[in-house]
Amino acid sequence: MMIIHQLTAKMQAPRVFCRTQRTLAGLFRHSSDMADFREVFSKAKRVAIITGAGVSAESGLPTFRGAGGIWRKWKTQDLATPEAFSRNPSSVWEFYHHWREMTLAAKPNTAHRAIAECEARLSKQGRSVVVITQTIDGLHHSAGSRHILEIHGNLFKTRCLSCGDVEVNRKSPICAALEGKGSPDTDAIDAQIPVNALPRCKEHDCNGLLRPDVIWFGETLDSHVLTKVEKELDSCDLCLVVGTSAVVYPAAMFAPQVASRGVPVAEFNTGVTPNTTRFMYHFQGPCGTTLPIALARHESEVI
Ligand SMILES: [Zn+2]
Repeated sequence: MMIIHQLTAKMQAPRVFCRTQRTLAGLFRHSSDMADFREVFSKAKRVAIITGAGVSAESGLPTFRGAGGIWRKWKTQDLATPEAFSRNPSSVWEFYHHWREMTLAAKPNTAHRAIAECEARLSKQGRSVVVITQTIDGLHHSAGSRHILEIHGNLFKTRCLSCGDVEVNRKSPICAALEGKGSPDTDAIDAQIPVNALPRCKEHDCNGLLRPDVIWFGETLDSHVLTKVEKELDSCDLCLVVGTSAVVYPAAMFAPQVASRGVPVAEFNTGVTPNTTRFMYHFQGPCGTTLPIALARHESEVI
């Protein structure tokens, strides 16, 4: 949920030059040889896994972008903005309440679990796994992943507009006035909840209006999170791109940056993208099927 030019500005990105990418694309003939990937995986010490909405699709969660991204008569792009929130905080909270309730009912799938199990196993061997995700549903946490960088925030965190306090909040409903509200039906009536009855800050004497702690359209990413992402991308020796197209943000920026260092990148996606040839490996199919095979214990792992 971010505009590429802002990311570019933020990351001072032109570390990845088109010329470099083209040159390397010529060197990499992407392979779908799982045994070959598994050999590379068995030697990796620092694995970075970039995940997108596709990793949550198999848990039954819509992406709220593209064709499925309509709530009542609005697109996500109409609701997930600071302007929409200041104009109509009640409707924006209804939308997020609906999204939160659906997500609370969802379970991590085999892809989430394969990633979490891999992290736990490799950590005992002195190897690391980091998840860099654009999902905001927290399902990587639920699956047991520990080292997670959420570049778009989290549906279950709130931020106070008055004091800036950020809190984890998994309450259902998040406030009494939202109970039973948030139906996505086109003929649903806006609840028009008074602003004082929307989620409010519990910090002492604050009572400020809370918003979801997610990155909205038109907002820049958290620079602290981006700095950590940069560090991980610079130091990983294997990168997986899971359930996100390599032509759109963030994989369009992050994974080619890794590939430009000559580090193996493996893409796990339901389709082929124009950038697939840029990466060393591509495994087509549902990531809930491909990832458990890719990240299973290798015969060389002794612990
Ligand atoms: Zn506050």
